[in-house]
Amino acid sequence: TDPALIRNFCIIAHIDHGKSTLADRMLQLTGVVEQRQMRAQYLDRMDIERERGITIKSQAVRLPWAPTPAEGGEGESATHVLNMIDTPGHVDFTYEVSRSLAACEGCILLVDAAQGIEAQTLANLYLAMEHDLTIIPVLNKIDLPAAQPEKFAAELAHLIGCDPSDVLKVSAKTGEGVDALLDKVVAEVPPPVGVADAPARAMIFDSVYDSYRGVVTYVRVVDGRLNKRERIRMMSTGAAHELLEIGVSAPEMTAADGLGVGEVGYIITGVKDVRQSKVGDTITSFAKGAEKPLGGYKDPKPMVFSGLYPLDGSDYPELREALDKLQLNDAALVYEPETSAALGFGFRVGFLGLLHLDVVRERLEREFGLDLIATAPNVVYGVTMEDGTEHTVTNPSEFPSGKIAEVREPVVRATLLAPSEFIGAIMELCQSRRGSLLGMDYLSEDRVELRYTLPLAEIVFDFFDALKSKTRGYASLDYEPTGEQLADLVKVDILMNGDKVDAFSAITHKDKAYAYGVRLVGKLRELIPRQNFEVPIQAAIGSRVIARETVRAIRKDVLAKCYGGDISRKRKLLEKQKEGKKRMKMVGSVEVPQEAFIAVLSSD
Ligand code: GDP
Ligand code: MG
Repeated sequence: TDPALIRNFCIIAHIDHGKSTLADRMLQLTGVVEQRQMRAQYLDRMDIERERGITIKSQAVRLPWAPTPAEGGEGESATHVLNMIDTPGHVDFTYEVSRSLAACEGCILLVDAAQGIEAQTLANLYLAMEHDLTIIPVLNKIDLPAAQPEKFAAELAHLIGCDPSDVLKVSAKTGEGVDALLDKVVAEVPPPVGVADAPARAMIFDSVYDSYRGVVTYVRVVDGRLNKRERIRMMSTGAAHELLEIGVSAPEMTAADGLGVGEVGYIITGVKDVRQSKVGDTITSFAKGAEKPLGGYKDPKPMVFSGLYPLDGSDYPELREALDKLQLNDAALVYEPETSAALGFGFRVGFLGLLHLDVVRERLEREFGLDLIATAPNVVYGVTMEDGTEHTVTNPSEFPSGKIAEVREPVVRATLLAPSEFIGAIMELCQSRRGSLLGMDYLSEDRVELRYTLPLAEIVFDFFDALKSKTRGYASLDYEPTGEQLADLVKVDILMNGDKVDAFSAITHKDKAYAYGVRLVGKLRELIPRQNFEVPIQAAIGSRVIARETVRAIRKDVLAKCYGGDISRKRKLLEKQKEGKKRMKMVGSVEVPQEAFIAVLSSD
């Protein structure tokens, strides 16, 4: 295809503002999916995505579009090739979003005309601006009675510095205005520029495992050309592969002879693991390849860790197998075996963030039928000892003891958006989570954007829920990792009858350690049944006990009560105790019901 006829664009939007529905309308309007095959959210292929209404993996689809000739214009206009690249919508996948954006020249900034701009809209807009994309502002859902197109057009225009009349108004549901939007994409998004006779350079913006075909890798060709059957090289690793198939998704995969400057499509090399075909990497020809890769490659870096243990210890091999399988499709998922005195054999698993964790857990339970216990998620800490040795701590129970010089924790830049009446509530919340205010802007008279630096550890627990409840659901939040900060952190251990329970160790800010200890010890006292002896439960920092509760010893005469009563009642009681024992774990000398672990570890 002549690059002058190509337009590469994506749609960025806050969740539920109608991105998938708009994509559906575009598929229909350009005729690539026939009416009778059309089903809602055609491109969101994973079940979990569909159920939760989120798009986890980006997809690309090629749409032919001949723009409507201008009034009084002559004849038919040339058919253009629009490549629509679907970006993942969630904060955990910022890097993947940035690669999808890097594959485009323009984006549609889609905003719900009844809701207005939200945090995710802003965070993605900032990314799009960093990539110098042409931005087409669009209000969706104008068919809704509650829509306020004039108000929000003014907000959008103010935000990106255009005239309110430049904001397109569409309904992805009815299709109104969508053809005009496609015309505008052709008119405003610049065609790709690249050097046709240079060595090939293509950027990977997505990589998906397919059980039949192996890994399918989505690429945007920047310079030169990739041809069927040629040998290619991954520039980050130097690994060579043969291009078994190359083509475009339209939206079903359609093989082609090759892809040239500006084109977007897929390649198949037969590799079985997405880590061999990584998002952000540059592909070049093996013979006479390019010398310099395209910029921006980063290895995926897990930000949040959690211990995953099978509820039934004999499921350990199945858990390993399931993780191996998931990793084929998920380059950001890392894990290694871990043993816990309390929970037995399991894995320490690293995730990009909380949603990623949820999705993986849910897939393990749903697709692989595993019942799991997950320890409370924690972030990654950097610890420097006074003697200069460095530790990277991904498990709180492995936090080093001894002379510590400094501890570093990851921080994020958070964008919060809410009606201005909630400014006080949001500031209070962020303050209590050790946040520092970076800036504040009014989007309109009554809506405000706040930017904060916050420790990631303070967000991974219940920040989002707290924010929603303090703002009656009106605030939205988005964030991206921005580095590390020094912090005054300590490890709090929980001891049962003098034995440390590794699964309950936590790293907290010094000022919050006491509250954490008291809360956990109190919870455990309620959950742990009485034993034959008194069980002290303590929270400690090092050897200093900061909280203590006691589970009193069982009264010797539990069964005595039954003497004289009928024998079947006594038997029942004994049987019940035996059954209960099966699901008990021995922690040191104390029997702890599995439910207690689950109850304590699930954040509430
Ligand atoms: P996404 O999260 O941005 O992909 O949003 P979806 O496309 O899944 O849409 C979220 C909800 O809004 C769904 O229930 C859609 O049916 C609805 N929706 C999307 N576009 C429109 C529209 O133009 N008008 C109306 N009334 N509803 C819409
Ligand atoms: Mg969607």
